[in-house]
Amino acid sequence: MAFRKRTSHPVQAGSLIIGGNAPVSIQGMTKTKTADLRQTLNQIHSIQNAGADIIRLAIRDRDDLTAFKLLRKKTTLTLVADIHFQSELALGAIKAGADKIRLNPGNIKNPEQLKKIIKEAKKRKIAIRVGVNSGSLPPHLHPLPGGARSVDASHLTSPHKGEEFLGVASPRKGKEFNPVIPFFSPSPQRGEGGGEGDELSLAHAMVSAAKNYLNIFEAEDFRNLVVSLKSSSVRTAILANRIFRQQFDYPLHLGITESGRGNLALVKSAIGIGSLLEEGIGDTIRVSLSGPPEEEIEAGRQILQALGLRYFYPEIISCPTCGRCQVNLFKILEKVETGLKCLPGYPRDYAGIKIAVMGCEVNGPGEAAAADIGIAAGRKNGFLFTKGREIAKINEEELAPVLLREIRKLRKNRGRDKRSHSLG
Ligand code: SF4
Repeated sequence: MAFRKRTSHPVQAGSLIIGGNAPVSIQGMTKTKTADLRQTLNQIHSIQNAGADIIRLAIRDRDDLTAFKLLRKKTTLTLVADIHFQSELALGAIKAGADKIRLNPGNIKNPEQLKKIIKEAKKRKIAIRVGVNSGSLPPHLHPLPGGARSVDASHLTSPHKGEEFLGVASPRKGKEFNPVIPFFSPSPQRGEGGGEGDELSLAHAMVSAAKNYLNIFEAEDFRNLVVSLKSSSVRTAILANRIFRQQFDYPLHLGITESGRGNLALVKSAIGIGSLLEEGIGDTIRVSLSGPPEEEIEAGRQILQALGLRYFYPEIISCPTCGRCQVNLFKILEKVETGLKCLPGYPRDYAGIKIAVMGCEVNGPGEAAAADIGIAAGRKNGFLFTKGREIAKINEEELAPVLLREIRKLRKNRGRDKRSHSLG
């Protein structure tokens, strides 16, 4: 398993470590009403089977909390209780055995209540995620709409009397707030209604909000924290997480909120989450899609595998075809994909094996030189190759079956794997 150099400190959430050198974990969230025990339990199992490492449940009221207590007993998976406004629900979830709770501390207006939550979390050694969303920033931190500008956090003050925890953090030694981001050169114009300055201002405001919340936790000597800075704008989310990482080593939960569904949502999430992970930023991810939760897990896995951070499936390298292709390559590809799914131990035992299905003998092997095993089609025949080297001539009809046979042999030979998908 490969890792980009990450700089977060490790946080324990149940049996799972988030941050440090731990593999990037994948989170899912149930979409049922938590109080509906049967539906929620089914969905927990389904999300777990899809490959989630952590599952979050919304706790909106006492009925949800009662159900959460029962659900806790039904799974050993790391469970997160998502609380928005009521501190009693947060306390109840902690006592019920939540491994982690997700809070937007700005929604819990009484600092004493928040301190009680922190005390209980500390006592039971559970983690807290401080979640900041660009759409629900405290009003005094939200930058005004329109125009390019930057936010200097040192000028921000809380208008809420008695709510010191929403005020601006006093800079700690060596962690001064730096409103300048060195990671990119701002372009002067980015089209109407979405200027660079807006994204940057919002990103800074999000980090200011996180910083202010973190001060409360740190004042109580609580550091078992994960932070999220989410936005439906890919750039805002990227900028906010970069700025945050310059100043803090808390593990980061990455996600693009309200990304929608279908290809657009997948592209937004892959770019937002993937760009940050490639920079070594991010310790746990959740792909939010308007769709079944299992699809979110699948998308999360694809992102991690595309970056080489974890491996879950064999990787198929197939060419788009062009005028040089003289076979129906898509048909062969379909046979290989279908056949793979029928192989014993699929996908786990084949995780990370690179399989090529290429449309011509001239360029195919070279373009797929990284493949562990592959086929390149010619006219009525083709050949089998490994690492770009031809190993056998094959008739066109035999291309898919021979490839599948060779893949099975690879499974036998590779032993239990370096490219494992397990978090263990
Ligand atoms: S491998 Fe051959 S057929 Fe496929 S895109 Fe490249 S040149 Fe075209």
